[in-house]
Amino acid sequence: MAPANPNESPSATTCPICKMTFVAAASPAFPFCSEKCHLLDLGKWLDGKYSTSRPLDPSDDDELESPSNPDGR
Ligand SMILES: [Zn+2]
Repeated sequence: MAPANPNESPSATTCPICKMTFVAAASPAFPFCSEKCHLLDLGKWLDGKYSTSRPLDPSDDDELESPSNPDGR
């Protein structure tokens, strides 16, 4: 085998949170460098999910009143 980058170990991975290079096989929180970064990412993900999962616009109600209402009211 010929490693492409001799400066990095074969399983070196960059943590998406802190951009630190770590050995994936040695991390219990892969793909993060540590459990701390794992939780940080989870928090960010949940934060974004909660802020974007609220599309309850008042204007949405208007579209519900379509002419195809079988009740005729
Ligand atoms: Zn990290």
